[in-house]
Amino acid sequence: MVPVEGVEDADRELAQPRVRAVRAAHAVRGERVAEHLIGAREFDGWAPQLAALITEADTAPVPRPIHSLPSGHRWDRVPGVTLLGDAAHLMAPSGEGANLAMYDGAELGKAIAAHPDDIEAALAEYEQALFPRSAEAADDAAVIFGLCCRDENAPQGMLDMFSPAA
Ligand SMILES: Cc1cc2nc3c(=O)[nH]c(=O)nc-3n(C[C@H](O)[C@H](O)[C@H](O)COP(=O)(O)OP(=O)(O)OC[C@H]3O[C@@H](n4cnc5c(N)ncnc54)[C@H](O)[C@@H]3O)c2cc1C
Repeated sequence: MVPVEGVEDADRELAQPRVRAVRAAHAVRGERVAEHLIGAREFDGWAPQLAALITEADTAPVPRPIHSLPSGHRWDRVPGVTLLGDAAHLMAPSGEGANLAMYDGAELGKAIAAHPDDIEAALAEYEQALFPRSAEAADDAAVIFGLCCRDENAPQGMLDMFSPAA
């Protein structure tokens, strides 16, 4: 196997006692999350098969933070370098992240093909379209994330969105 820079470091890091302790703490917190969800009757009315994915799992749920870059995030042109996908516009999950990453790749390829002798012109053209496209998607993602998770009546807003209009 070809070694990839950073991956072996990650394996070594996971072997450190402190990292193992953090993972153990996450597992304990996960058990508390499960207890809380069950105790608070969060699953009342759920199909038992769905609730069982959490209550009957072999391991405790692992709470994971959702990270995002600010909407409208951009950077100054750096010769010979650009970003695409999550590296360029990490946003709350909205069902578009993989599409955007592939679209960015296609657009970058097209820009390079259009300027084969001028990579700076290609990267500048790519980024000029990337920034507003990413900002619009990030704004949409924030709305979707609110409907799913953050708004006061979440996830009712998401259910309403998919429900036929009355
Ligand atoms: C909970 C959740 C649900 C989601 N649901 C959806 C969905 O339904 N539909 C959708 O379209 N998108 C969804 N997304 C978003 C989607 O997963 C991402 O937007 C997409 O994977 C971004 O692709 P990427 O190639 O830019 O980055 P990544 O998929 O993160 O790829 C980056 C790769 O680089 C590797 N890497 C990192 N550092 C190094 C290094 N130093 N050396 C070598 N390799 C390295 C990583 O291991 C990784 O494999 C979801 C995201 C989350 C968190």
